[in-house]
Amino acid sequence: MTAFDLSNRVALITGGNGGIGLGMAKGLAAAGATVVIAGRNKAKADAALAELKAAGAQATFVEIDVLEETSCHQAIDQVAQKFGRLDILINNAGTSVRKPPEQLTAADWHLVMNTNLTSAFMCSQAAYPHMKKSGGGKIINIGSMMSTFASSYAAPYASSKGAIVQMAKSLAIAWAKDNIQVNTILPGWINTELTKKAREQVEGLHDRVLARTPAQRWGEPGDFAGVAVFLAAPASDFITGAAIAVDGGYSVQA
Ligand code: NDP
Repeated sequence: MTAFDLSNRVALITGGNGGIGLGMAKGLAAAGATVVIAGRNKAKADAALAELKAAGAQATFVEIDVLEETSCHQAIDQVAQKFGRLDILINNAGTSVRKPPEQLTAADWHLVMNTNLTSAFMCSQAAYPHMKKSGGGKIINIGSMMSTFASSYAAPYASSKGAIVQMAKSLAIAWAKDNIQVNTILPGWINTELTKKAREQVEGLHDRVLARTPAQRWGEPGDFAGVAVFLAAPASDFITGAAIAVDGGYSVQA
């Protein structure tokens, strides 16, 4: 087994039925993992599964609504039971409500915090006993440039993405003794459904991002395949609690 081999590993990716989640699922599958894409939208999942299987992946779908604690536990227990193990959890499901802070409702706030942050905690808790039982595991969270920077139209999003980094560090410390590594990926601006909406709602966003990104392009979901494999594989066994930017240099530009 090489440092990047994921044969015999089982990975569950929330929101793996599209966007960045699917980009990571493709990477893990190419490295040999069995991938379980978890989401709500079955039509999107069917299309994603067809793509994965056409590339030779071992892939399946499980329904999950990360806003429901019981759904998180049911989906994860079901996968662990079906495959006899769960080695890799990617907490990728996410959403945003774009409004100035004075216009946000409590429901807006809770939707974003629960989807982006609380769900990652619930799913990590659900995965823990399965990982512990098989001698270790990898939890990968998805933060954002807004884990560091902020925006006038994204107070709950920035709050959830800042907090997920601290949550990952806390879990990393607590579960290092169980050989579970917990890290966070910080994507730059990536071309997905989520940012399609953002580009429609926030004037000038597309060009501002291009002007600030040294790589001179928006990222694509495929840009996350490599980092997902690295953080899911034995190659990263001594890396835990870290936050890794995948942003074409956006965060180091003055
Ligand atoms: P997408 O909108 O393509 O993906 C979001 C995914 O989250 C969907 O597949 C969706 O699945 C899932 N999801 C949302 N709510 C729920 C829910 N309640 N239960 C289950 N699944 C849910 O966007 P991205 O690929 O861009 O986003 C993926 C992650 O990357 C998010 O955490 C986002 O915040 C983060 N990110 C994205 C950036 C970007 O530029 N695109 C930048 C920084 C971070 P379904 O359709 O089935 O509901």
